[in-house]
Amino acid sequence: MKFAPDNKDVTLFPRYSRIAVIPSPPRYSRAMPLFGTTRTPATAPRLVATAAREVVRADRAGTVVATLYQLIGAAAALGVVGAGKLTFDALLTPEDARLGLTPALLALAFLTALSGAIGPLQAQQHRLLGERVSQRVWNRLLDATARADLLSYEATGFATNLERVQQNALTRPFAVTTSLLGLTGGLLGVVTISTALISIEPLLVPVLLTAGVPAVLLSRWASRSEFSFATRLTALYRRRNYLRQLLTQRGYAAELRAFDSAPRLRRHHSALNASVATELRGQVRRRQLIAAMTTLGMAAALAIALLAIVELVRRGRIDLATAGAAAIAVRLLSTQLTTLFTAIGGLIESAPFLADLERFIAAVPTMSPDGTRRPLRDRVTLTGVSFRYPSQQRPAVDDVDLTIRAGEVVALVGENGSGKTTLAKIVAGLYDADTGTRQWDGVIADPADLRASVSVIFQDFVRYQFSLRENIAIADDGRGDPAAVTDAARKAGVLDSVPSLPDGMDTVLGRDLDEGVDLSGGQWQRVALARALYRTADLVVLDEPAAALDPRTEHALFTDVRATLDGRAALLISHRFSSTRMADRIYVMDEGRIIESGTHDELMAHDGQYAQLYRLQSAAYR
Ligand code: ADP
Repeated sequence: MKFAPDNKDVTLFPRYSRIAVIPSPPRYSRAMPLFGTTRTPATAPRLVATAAREVVRADRAGTVVATLYQLIGAAAALGVVGAGKLTFDALLTPEDARLGLTPALLALAFLTALSGAIGPLQAQQHRLLGERVSQRVWNRLLDATARADLLSYEATGFATNLERVQQNALTRPFAVTTSLLGLTGGLLGVVTISTALISIEPLLVPVLLTAGVPAVLLSRWASRSEFSFATRLTALYRRRNYLRQLLTQRGYAAELRAFDSAPRLRRHHSALNASVATELRGQVRRRQLIAAMTTLGMAAALAIALLAIVELVRRGRIDLATAGAAAIAVRLLSTQLTTLFTAIGGLIESAPFLADLERFIAAVPTMSPDGTRRPLRDRVTLTGVSFRYPSQQRPAVDDVDLTIRAGEVVALVGENGSGKTTLAKIVAGLYDADTGTRQWDGVIADPADLRASVSVIFQDFVRYQFSLRENIAIADDGRGDPAAVTDAARKAGVLDSVPSLPDGMDTVLGRDLDEGVDLSGGQWQRVALARALYRTADLVVLDEPAAALDPRTEHALFTDVRATLDGRAALLISHRFSSTRMADRIYVMDEGRIIESGTHDELMAHDGQYAQLYRLQSAAYR
């Protein structure tokens, strides 16, 4: 197998695979809209203030300790200047010196060592604080995404924006924390050493301070280019990560080998790698240029300040001891200024990412989690319900009327793409209808109440790599009432179909986390069914609940469906007509519309599309 990059067959992600066709980046602007909304732009100082608050809230004690280190660092730096002056005095004019040479030297050595040692101590403290800040930011992000309206996932760009925000939520809080602490320490250092230096020669201070101006200006450039780089690269990263998953994860391993598609996927991966490397090279060059220009500015200022000291000595304005102390102070001040301006630069650089995060969190449309669970006494009614996906032209559900009475089994049949799943999600309160009404026992239903009152099993149900108990109990606040969980498992046939559960209900399912028992598709489907049955709800939406079951089991499930449902009403989706013929009422969907409805016998007598499709399927079986 050869895995050399070969652009000839790069067609998987035609827009992203080749460098030449990377879409031009949306340039960062303060008022960049997300999901079409424009928010009030947040200014950099406000963002920095918000960031500082976040750091303090994340770890109050840690912030205090980190600030103490900064204070000690600044005091030690000031002490070095003082001890330096005392040492020079003791050396050059021992008769006037306030301290002997040995104690002055000892003080100088101790303070120099202290100011050097504080750096590594701070670095370790920052690690701790950075993690706490990152945890806090992640919690906010997870809260926002967990509450996100299901439809947000359909909005163009949502996934890419989320990915970018996630990646930065991982690294930026640490950078901001370090910068904020650097800012505090740098400011303290600059103020104290400047005070010392002003008493020697006031002119030296502005000379050094001006060195910071280009640094700050350059960091604005760095900030813009970094944000635009991140925006450009997220799409590439997502595609590359997707390929990495395909190439490494268990679920894909068999098919990849069967089709020997790994080499081809590796080539796509290599092509994306090449694009990433090219982009990164450009960005690294830009950043190196910025760093070089900043350093040059600082070096020039330092040289001017040191030359000025020499000139002051030549003119006899200061004595040699003072000049020595001034040289130390200039050197220390330039270090503190570098810390200060690096911190300001870091904050300026992180500001757009913080704004990005804030904008994302603020713009995520949320679903209310607190619905009221209602029993179904009479019926659920949909009237004139239509719904269109944002990315589609045609409505997926078009002017639908539908009734489910308490305890009834209502079936939804129709060809692929006719709108069954979408309609089921509207019934379950997961999507809001664009037009039309949903009523629960004659009252307009709040979507949150619908979500609280309906249970579902989806076609693409989740295979939680948790224990069997958790797989079931997760459907209802994870209460895990042992008798009820076992009852649901028995009703769904889990206990009969899974022969070996070494730890009983506590057996971990799935092999993704390297422990647990793997199940067949049909066994997983029964677990999902148990989950749907466990939830206290008078209406259950069953979207293809038997797709993975063998015919005998499927037949048994549907013949017995009323016993399984135990008095609950059900909206049952299936494209196997034999499974739905026992329903109290069958709705036939076509291109989003209900084209026929009635009992099996009525629909057969009507001799429309249902009868035609039913005969087609039964002929195939005969
Ligand atoms: P069914 O369940 O009958 O197979 P669906 O409700 O899944 O049909 O789909 C109905 C229509 O909506 C189809 O045309 C499908 O392409 C479209 N659709 C389904 N899901 C989405 C989605 N997430 N985003 C955009 N269009 C979708």
